[in-house]
Amino acid sequence: MAHNGINGEAQNQTAALPKPHKVTEIQHTQIFINNEWLCSQSGKTFPTFNPATGLKICDVQEADQADVDRAVEAARAALQRNSPWRRMDSSGRGRLLNALADLLERERGLLATLETLDTGKPFLQSFFIDLDGSIKTLRYYAGWADKIHGKTMPVDDHFMCFTKHEPVGVCGAIIPWNFPLLMFVWKIAPALCCGNTVVIKPAEQTPLTALHVGALIKEAGFPPGVVNIVPGFGPTAGAAIASHMGINKVAFTGSTEVGQLIKEAAARSNLKRVTLELGGKNPCIVFSDSDLHLAVQEAQKGAFYNQGQCCTAASRVFVEDQVYDEFVRLSVESVKRIVAGDPMDPRTTHGPQINQEQLEKILDLVESGKTEGAKLECGGSRLKDESLFIQPTIFSDVKDHMRLAKEEIFGPVQCIQKFKTQEEVIERANSTQYGLAAAVFTRSVERALSVSAALEAGTVWVNCYNALHAQTPFGGYKMSGNGRELGEYALAEYCEVKAVTIKLNEQLNI
Ligand code: NAP
Ligand code: MG
Repeated sequence: MAHNGINGEAQNQTAALPKPHKVTEIQHTQIFINNEWLCSQSGKTFPTFNPATGLKICDVQEADQADVDRAVEAARAALQRNSPWRRMDSSGRGRLLNALADLLERERGLLATLETLDTGKPFLQSFFIDLDGSIKTLRYYAGWADKIHGKTMPVDDHFMCFTKHEPVGVCGAIIPWNFPLLMFVWKIAPALCCGNTVVIKPAEQTPLTALHVGALIKEAGFPPGVVNIVPGFGPTAGAAIASHMGINKVAFTGSTEVGQLIKEAAARSNLKRVTLELGGKNPCIVFSDSDLHLAVQEAQKGAFYNQGQCCTAASRVFVEDQVYDEFVRLSVESVKRIVAGDPMDPRTTHGPQINQEQLEKILDLVESGKTEGAKLECGGSRLKDESLFIQPTIFSDVKDHMRLAKEEIFGPVQCIQKFKTQEEVIERANSTQYGLAAAVFTRSVERALSVSAALEAGTVWVNCYNALHAQTPFGGYKMSGNGRELGEYALAEYCEVKAVTIKLNEQLNI
């Protein structure tokens, strides 16, 4: 899952590269409930577009409250005490998750093609990074399924006390458009491994891979109702999940503003559990003793990977003054190696933004940088009129008060800032409402350890960027979120702990 290759390393060996599939018709465009494909009860559909061409790919059935109700009913029925899902040995859940991972391997080319069609991200990125991360996450949680157990408590001899880790129940999930397949798997894999059932809403912009995986879930042999997929819009289907009385937990990835709405809806309905993975304004700190070429490469990966549409994007790069000019020069040189173009072309490393709304938001922030006095080093506009492509953009001399340094950009814009002392940069790095990720570049182990201890972020990368693994927890401090995804830590988010205390018969107690 580690993100590599935005600057074209992988594309040098073109011979053995996988090819996109020729997709003439999209197979799965309906709502998936109880292992069946359904039309929306309202009769409504919505279109999904290819951001690279602006053309409609297909229409998808639009779920709203009534369909979410039906999905929750199916998910509750699948959880009944005597249901096949509840009676299954825990290793059976692991076997099913592994079977699903096998099917993702089998369909890897098609899934990567669908992901690229729907998001505009380069095909090789979909194929190697998103698919790899999804498959590894399924296999990681497949391994946990029969290893989730409680403890016995050392209470006095009059009692026997132990805990059981039980599923939370029906887990709702609401996911964004930047990593549609990966986020789908990050949500369902830990939920299923712990024995929960799921009602999940993909983002309106990118429903296709989630729906295709619905068919694979059925083929893998998951009982009906265990996973239900409700494509639709946030204020209708998403809000219905967040406030549903029959849902026991909701996991959300997206903007901080919507995260607040989710938590509020959860509180006002049934106090369902909430985990949130939200925005970031992540600092990337480059000390003068670092390997500067490595720092330039990794910082650019942080800024431009996935067209900058990452919650982990390195959008505040702090560089120590002695190496600042050289860092800017090398960055401007390196950005020229990014290849924008048709996302299906294996040489392409930079695709379009997801839609017009995001494009305008990014261009507005770019304009703010120009007017607020940052120095535009390169890029700064659309690649072609009417397209959703934005040139990879670098600003230097960015100051803390500028919008560029404060707001989440979610686009291919790198903001370079200068610092003088370690103390100063820690203070500035932490002065944000966000706390998702941070990075430190240095050759000093002591400095790496002391700076990573001081940074308020759920993830700190040292001499690397965007290195994510299924085994390693991911989540944010402060307004970047609540709870952790991935790793063993995520299991606690999907289990209730039941304490069973048994009074022992005193007479038998010798
Ligand atoms: P968003 O609105 O937060 O969307 C994320 C998910 O939440 C989508 O499935 C969305 O549905 C749903 N949603 C929206 N309003 C909702 C509501 N009232 N109740 C329940 N669910 C709701 O994000 P966005 O509009 O796509 O992007 C806006 C900004 O969010 C970006 O510029 C970026 O800053 C941030 N973002 C962060 C991440 C991340 O990975 N942390 C990912 C994407 C975006 P729809 O299908 O209708 O959109
Ligand atoms: Mg689309």
